[in-house]
Amino acid sequence: MDKSLIEKAYDSEFFAQMGHKVIDQLKEHLENSISSKNGKVIPWNSPEKELDFWKDFLEKGDSGLFFKEILNRTTHTHNPKYVGHQVAATAPLTALTGLLSSFLNNGMAVYEMGISPTAMERIVTDRLAEKVGYTDQSRGVLTSGGTLANLTALLAARKAMILHDVWNEGHSQPLGIMVSEEAHYCVDRAAKIMGLGNRGIIKVPVNDSFAMGIEKLEQYYGEARSQGIHVFAIVGSAPSTATGTYDNLEAIASFAEKHKLWFHVDGAHGGAAVFSKKYKPLLNGIEKSDSVVIDGHKMMLMPTITTALLFKNGNDSHQTFSQKADYLLTDTDEEDWYNGGKRTFECTKTMMSLHWYLMFKLYGDDIFDEYVTRQYDLTQRFASLLGNDKNFDIAVKPTSNILCFRWVHPDLDMEKTNVLNESIRKELLEDGEFYLVQTKLNGVHYMRTSLMNPFTTLEHLEELVQKIKNIAEKQSKRTS
Ligand SMILES: *Cc1c(COP(=O)(O)O)cnc(C)c1O
Repeated sequence: MDKSLIEKAYDSEFFAQMGHKVIDQLKEHLENSISSKNGKVIPWNSPEKELDFWKDFLEKGDSGLFFKEILNRTTHTHNPKYVGHQVAATAPLTALTGLLSSFLNNGMAVYEMGISPTAMERIVTDRLAEKVGYTDQSRGVLTSGGTLANLTALLAARKAMILHDVWNEGHSQPLGIMVSEEAHYCVDRAAKIMGLGNRGIIKVPVNDSFAMGIEKLEQYYGEARSQGIHVFAIVGSAPSTATGTYDNLEAIASFAEKHKLWFHVDGAHGGAAVFSKKYKPLLNGIEKSDSVVIDGHKMMLMPTITTALLFKNGNDSHQTFSQKADYLLTDTDEEDWYNGGKRTFECTKTMMSLHWYLMFKLYGDDIFDEYVTRQYDLTQRFASLLGNDKNFDIAVKPTSNILCFRWVHPDLDMEKTNVLNESIRKELLEDGEFYLVQTKLNGVHYMRTSLMNPFTTLEHLEELVQKIKNIAEKQSKRTS
């Protein structure tokens, strides 16, 4: 008798066959990517053409080629010439924990639906809190991304700092948060979601290094207060996204303490530097914060999407979404840390603690020390390489693994230089050997690299520089 579709979909033999084949393909992909033998980092295709391909594939494609086609038609983060967006080239074993999570599908909202990953989540967030310099009163959660984690932290901040019960009764006065103008746009979005409005997000200008202008804090705070805005939180970026510059957390901590503000550190990208013996000082002051966000899928080699949100005072984490305003844990109340859904925005989430736990179990803290230190060191060497070349200009000396630079020539004015750099980056994208991104800072167009891949070397970057020069010379001849 023919099998039903359900029987086919759950056929364990077919699953095993496909599984072995995919793992073998990924093994080959990994080897070829790391040695740059796959050729292109990015197989550029226009959205319309790609859409047509997959429409056609759905009708007539060979399903046996499904996984292979995806490998051929997506961006290869494991290729050392990938120097683009801030996502990790995943440690391959964390793809296996991802597989387990997808397969078992424990929803994690309550303890029963994620018994072992819930215990692991407590262990890894405790470990991160200790690294940050928090106390044993601290607690954390894992959640789906830095964006959601920042929003959650700011909701916790409002709950803790505003006496009025905003959660149940809505705003009774204009509220505000302070943040650098270079902060990730999700902080602005969080403030908007919280109903703070434009006035409620007080953007402090940056200094020449693109870090929050500490000397301007009092002025901006004073102005907001005189407009009747109750400022309740300040966010430090560690680092900011465009240039990768760390804010002065120590100074922000003092300011927050003076004015009784909640101090939140957005370390989505660079919070992982707590593991680097060499670069940890960039985070001095983080231990004085009330909450911290660290993405696993950026500088901690894990797959999208997993973020640690840590609270210095564990109680704050329990109250964020509590419906009862007067809910407070007392000494006699048992803390139900194991019912994660009460403390996260999500109801259902993936079993993301598996990635973190396995990394700690197999490699300890040291792998993150090795990785972060290597990438930050490399970026400084890359900056020196460009700094010694009269045809390149860097936006700011790097403090992390993010670097913004542009091609310059004395004959070209600002306008033409902008156009040229945009068009160099476009040609690089369509060429696909390297992948980097771009940004605008004060009206100046920059190419932007995040050195995420642990196999990128200075030699790869020299090749990139040479390639950019060739393109620039060709294109500038064409335009002049
Ligand atoms: C990437 C990033 C975010 C957003 O995090 P997601 O995990 O992409 O949601 C927030 N802040 C900073 C500083 C970032 O680098």
